[in-house]
Amino acid sequence: MISRYYLKCPGCEEMFVARLGVEPTRGTRFYFPCPLCRLPIRGSMSGSELSNHRIAIDCEVLSGRDPEPDGVSVVTINSFVPSLYEADSFSPAGAFPTMTLMGILGSDVFLAFESERHQALEAGQAMWPQVRMLFQYYLQGNAEMFTRIAKKHFGLEWDPATSHQRTSVAYQVLGTATTTITGSTGACYEKVIGRFSRKHTAAMKRHTDHLRAFRRRGQASAALERDLFTELNRFVEQQESWEMGLLGRFVGAEEKAAFDELVLFRDEFSTVRDLYQHGFELACKCLWPLVAAQNTVMRGSPDDFGDVHPESVPANKRPRSLEKFDKLSSAYKIAYVAQVPGWEPFAVLLDNRRRNTIGHATAHHDLQTGRVVSDEDPSGMTYLEFLGETLGVFEALSTLAQVLRASRVASSPDFGLSE
Ligand SMILES: [Zn+2]
Repeated sequence: MISRYYLKCPGCEEMFVARLGVEPTRGTRFYFPCPLCRLPIRGSMSGSELSNHRIAIDCEVLSGRDPEPDGVSVVTINSFVPSLYEADSFSPAGAFPTMTLMGILGSDVFLAFESERHQALEAGQAMWPQVRMLFQYYLQGNAEMFTRIAKKHFGLEWDPATSHQRTSVAYQVLGTATTTITGSTGACYEKVIGRFSRKHTAAMKRHTDHLRAFRRRGQASAALERDLFTELNRFVEQQESWEMGLLGRFVGAEEKAAFDELVLFRDEFSTVRDLYQHGFELACKCLWPLVAAQNTVMRGSPDDFGDVHPESVPANKRPRSLEKFDKLSSAYKIAYVAQVPGWEPFAVLLDNRRRNTIGHATAHHDLQTGRVVSDEDPSGMTYLEFLGETLGVFEALSTLAQVLRASRVASSPDFGLSE
């Protein structure tokens, strides 16, 4: 729904009408530039129902009964849907942001997007609290509570007796939630995990060195497992701030120009950047089981990187073991994974050029243009594209959690190492 506010700019003191998109939210920070002097004005809203909805705007709100003089500026601001700022009530194409989106995407694509988005939000809000509880009992090693929660909330009809079985149940539940939150359009997790599972299983069957490598790294993987879960949880707790990144996966090359005109008026850059940066670095620490499986299948040893190296990696940086791989910069690690057929999407999910822009010390959200820019990359990207990158990192983490599961199973005490 859209509320009309008659506002007075605290800077130029001119009056104008803001048409503000209002939706149920746990908490959203928004902004909009004054239409006359471009001063950014900030605000926030919260409330899951209209009855408890609160909106605060950092400027004088004139009574709705005050007459609006002719020719007063009208702006449209929406922090939930990218919108056309200049749109006023006389240009129907821009007046309702969802109509704008439908006009650009076409109604079929728009409805597909809405449906995926709805499922993702539902999974984050309704399902995640139980997933979190189950996974916490799993990490704590509390088998009794784990089983109780799995039966109560996830319909499990048997008792997972071994740690191997609990690992499987925990990761299956986690995967269902995180893939729903990621959405299916443009997602690569199935393909990536499928390929990894085949390689990893083949490697385990034929080479004890492979299992030994996972054993040797068992303790480190246990720490990574906890960190990954903590990070996924941080993402889901802030889901509202980045979920609109999903929209980018429905935008084709032809529609891109139209999207560059729209602005998503959210003022949460520092929160989302934190998630993005932490998530990106952590994802890069979890890439090793992928290269280990590839090395073993191709060359019989998880530590053998062979002679095929990515062009971007200088000769003196080429790793000779998994431990050396751990020490590589993120960009080089991604290059090794992305050169394997089927795993190219990692170069997109973890785009190093974009990371340099977003992570740069001078990176900021330019509220005049609605873009994320840095001194090195002054044109940067739209805020919506920035959220798309954040979704990419979430998908990478979600996928790598399932990859790590294989390493947890391999290093579990139930899994015998036959000498
Ligand atoms: Zn002003």
